[in-house]
Amino acid sequence: MQNVIPRRKKTIRDIDVRGKRVLVRADFNVPLNDDGSIADDTRIRASLPTIRYLCERDARVILCSHLDRPQGVVVERLRLTLVANRLSMLLGRPVLALQDCIGPEVESAVAGMSGGDVLLLENLRFHPEERANDPAFAEQLASLAEIYVNDAFGASHRVHASIVGVSEHLPAVAGLLLAKELDAFTRILKDPDRPFAAVIGGAKVSDKLGVLENIVPRVDLLLIGGGMAATFFASRGYGTGASTVENDRLDDVRGISAKAAELGVRLLLPGDVVVAERLDAGARARVVPATAIPDDLVIADIGPGTASEFGQALAGCRTVVWNGPMGVFEVPEFAEGTRRVAATLANLHGTTVIGGGSTADAVTRFGLADEMTHVSTGGGAALTMLAGKPLPGVEALEEAEEP
Ligand code: ADP
Ligand code: MG
Repeated sequence: MQNVIPRRKKTIRDIDVRGKRVLVRADFNVPLNDDGSIADDTRIRASLPTIRYLCERDARVILCSHLDRPQGVVVERLRLTLVANRLSMLLGRPVLALQDCIGPEVESAVAGMSGGDVLLLENLRFHPEERANDPAFAEQLASLAEIYVNDAFGASHRVHASIVGVSEHLPAVAGLLLAKELDAFTRILKDPDRPFAAVIGGAKVSDKLGVLENIVPRVDLLLIGGGMAATFFASRGYGTGASTVENDRLDDVRGISAKAAELGVRLLLPGDVVVAERLDAGARARVVPATAIPDDLVIADIGPGTASEFGQALAGCRTVVWNGPMGVFEVPEFAEGTRRVAATLANLHGTTVIGGGSTADAVTRFGLADEMTHVSTGGGAALTMLAGKPLPGVEALEEAEEP
């Protein structure tokens, strides 16, 4: 297989962190409500094992993260103070939030730390040098610590200063969350229990071509849903009504279908779909066969027959990876297909891995996240892994010795 499966990287368990100053790149890029409060603290909770591990060993824990997209300037509502407060509550110890991530005040705060102390640097993206992977900025960040820990799976597909640049200056290892994410994806890509199915959906097939190409040779069963089903239908000459079809991707999609047929992979497209005039709440929805989509309507979800068929096909699987919702699940009228696939996976006796920002969001909204083997905290990073592409932030870490 031409694509890479990452080699095992050193983690904080493989090195001596006791009493050390440790720079931890976390992913505190949490969704915010309109009033600026934290809408979902999953990513903060996910960082706790690494922070606790370090505190228990009297390390001095210097946390850093980006939040949203401040475009290289200070944006008051994107300060990390609220994140520090939430983290402090969850951790049960003080977390000091600093006003910047580099500079003399940061240096003196770090110099004053005792073993077990935790502080949080200010939003890295207040500095344009973070996204530019600026070497001087990376060096300044690195100068704060003796060890670098990447625990930001969700940002590890980015070549940014706090993800890649710092690792050139310090011993660089994975945190426990990053290691868990890598283990989950590596296992399904390398050695899945079979039968192994992939459920791929979402808005556009162009976002998922890399994933489809990498996954088809690995799976026994491939289920397609979401808006991208329209491009699959069009590639087979069905009418797609007013749905968006990516005409420049028809050949790619035919290639995926041909590859599946050649390898004996069972490829299922929706047999029925929910269609509507618009993709908004309140739009009148009805179910039609996929071969009879009215001209003026768009595909909004998989139909109930498809949800049952997918459910039956998945029930016999021992590993399922799911990326991309089956419909416009944000609108209650079009959420049923996604909900039923989520329920099927929740009941599956096997390994279930959820990758993709919207897919994880859907599973969480349905209250089923705890029923899955692994719900990834990374959207773009999960897609990168499923596409078999290296994550720059992981490549930069030290390799573990072979056992
Ligand atoms: P993920 O973030 O899990 O990788 P994507 O970003 O690929 O998923 O897709 C998520 C989006 O796809 C959702 O916002 C959802 O509304 C949209 N979507 C799903 N089905 C359709 C459809 N039939 N038409 C338009 N958009 C859709
Ligand atoms: Mg997405």
